[in-house]
Amino acid sequence: MGRPDAPNVETIHAEILFHASTWPKVTRLSWKKMGEGADEFERFGHPLLICFNSGSMEDSREVNSPLSNPEFWQEVRQLAFAFREKNWKEIASFYATYGPLGYPWEAGVPAEPYGWAEAALEWFRELTSLVEAIEFGRYGHLRKYFGPPRVVPARQAIDPIVFVRPKNPFDFSTYWLKYTAEVSGPEKDPVWRSPQDEGELVQATWKVVVRGVTEELGRIPLVPIAEERRGSHLPLVHWGFRPRGAFSAAFLQWFFAKVAPLGGRTCVADGCDHLVLPPRKVYCSEKCSDRQKSRDARRREKERYEVD
Ligand SMILES: [Zn+2]
Repeated sequence: MGRPDAPNVETIHAEILFHASTWPKVTRLSWKKMGEGADEFERFGHPLLICFNSGSMEDSREVNSPLSNPEFWQEVRQLAFAFREKNWKEIASFYATYGPLGYPWEAGVPAEPYGWAEAALEWFRELTSLVEAIEFGRYGHLRKYFGPPRVVPARQAIDPIVFVRPKNPFDFSTYWLKYTAEVSGPEKDPVWRSPQDEGELVQATWKVVVRGVTEELGRIPLVPIAEERRGSHLPLVHWGFRPRGAFSAAFLQWFFAKVAPLGGRTCVADGCDHLVLPPRKVYCSEKCSDRQKSRDARRREKERYEVD
């Protein structure tokens, strides 16, 4: 708890303040037409922009928050396929219904880089499927990333695993999912133990998830929205996330529905900070439970001895 490498995602309480404005007409635009500086981006192979047709927002209209639909995040996840297949009909229909995904331009530019949108959506699809694999015990899916159980010299460790490495003309480091292998053993010949069993596989994946989630949460503005007076106590401030568009809105919806409830409990065994997943309640594993019980028994034994 509170260790920098094991952030606790349980303690976030905030609303999602999302006002969607549609982009009824979306079109493709070559960077070439953007003039100066555009060549820079051409090199990355992402010449396309999604752009509100006339550049004017006149036809744009506010829509009720799509978050009233609890499945909204799944729709956004599904959009990754439309981007991958360059399915313009589907992409345009999404923007006409929910507005832009929310590229963080400095000013309100009615355009988004295709490469960014594609990268963000692929990242989200991957991240959500990792959490589903944890939730439903799809260990085969997780094993694909870490390989078979093995102990190898540290230099062969997968550090970091890059799960997704989308080409992004704006920021190559933004949408990665990373795993940092922990090495152990003698200083001269450190080794890396890959996840050996299902429990370790889940813990390793969880680290990747928490890291990705924390990074994305850090990108979304969190603003105070109201103060509640409670008698003579200090006022209680309510907080709200203000997503820039449909992408972070969907991410937040998914986070509060799927990740926050999972991340609340860590194992109570001495020296273990593993995640406790249902149906387990107190210890992360049978192993920890047994170990702690015999440890407690020994302690009691010792105390009795000292009293006598
Ligand atoms: Zn444990």
